[in-house]
Amino acid sequence: MTEFILKTNELTRTYNSFNALDNVSITLEPGKIYGLIGRNGAGKSTLMRVIAGLSYPTSGSMELFGKKSAKAIQAERKRIGSMIESPSLIMNMTAKENMKAHRTMRGIPNTEIEDELLQLVGLSDTGKKKVKDFSLGMKQRLGIAISLINNPELLILDEPINGLDPLGVKEVRNLLIKLCEERHITILISSHNLPELFQVATDYIIIHDGKIKQTLTLDQLENRCRKHILIECEEPEKLLSILETEFNTTNFKVLPNKTIKLYDHVDEKKKVAQALFNHGILTTNFSIEGDTLENYFISVIGGEEE
Ligand code: ADP
Repeated sequence: MTEFILKTNELTRTYNSFNALDNVSITLEPGKIYGLIGRNGAGKSTLMRVIAGLSYPTSGSMELFGKKSAKAIQAERKRIGSMIESPSLIMNMTAKENMKAHRTMRGIPNTEIEDELLQLVGLSDTGKKKVKDFSLGMKQRLGIAISLINNPELLILDEPINGLDPLGVKEVRNLLIKLCEERHITILISSHNLPELFQVATDYIIIHDGKIKQTLTLDQLENRCRKHILIECEEPEKLLSILETEFNTTNFKVLPNKTIKLYDHVDEKKKVAQALFNHGILTTNFSIEGDTLENYFISVIGGEEE
């Protein structure tokens, strides 16, 4: 088995002389949920369209399920399910009728999959209700059920959470986690809002102006955004013993270069500084670090306000 599902190599997509995608190189490993995060116009849909074969790159290459040639990649796309831009729903039909229509269009003989997927996305009891009377969250979940009809290994969802109310957001988030955990589907999901996908995605790909600005794991993201006092001092061992004895905490991380991140007592900066002073520890840096997710995202894409 290949250790990655998709690898893109310097994918570029140009419209007139404008680079909607600019040398995008990403790797998707199986069993993970990738959050593709970027402002409107960053290039998220373009990247998803190129991967799904709905658009083509101007230059660059990709490898899908270990296949490299254009013909083989096209064949492997059968293993992808996607919902890019709005889901293709037939408004005058019920959920079940929509499932049947899409199943037939795709030439999938297994009729049982209709109920099975409706159950999976929590829409099995919508009966005769027409899709036009569904909430936006229900429509999104039906769209996801339709994208699962071919039993995909890679699911690509473009902004499925956009515009949902908090309950709808929760339902879609839970569904994604379930698809990943129970069905082992690798998911690439886009959003213009980092907090929206926080803790849902296992990995984050931040895109801006068609360029990948950063890729990081949930762990790394949590660490970068966690508030702490950053202390750089001459006698870190002495500082650690003060933290343990006087402040009764081991909630810190020791970094190289005589630097310590203290996660407790962040609101008691003065008290910590006073203790350092009392023990004669010379500090070369003492600052509060860590950011909100949104500020962190802004700092990664270059600090421009919306
Ligand atoms: P996102 O999904 O992140 O909002 P898109 O991928 O839709 O961004 O768009 C990226 C950029 O490419 C935008 O500036 C958009 O206007 C441009 N773009 C996308 N599709 C086309 C197209 N068919 N023709 C010209 N420009 C396009």
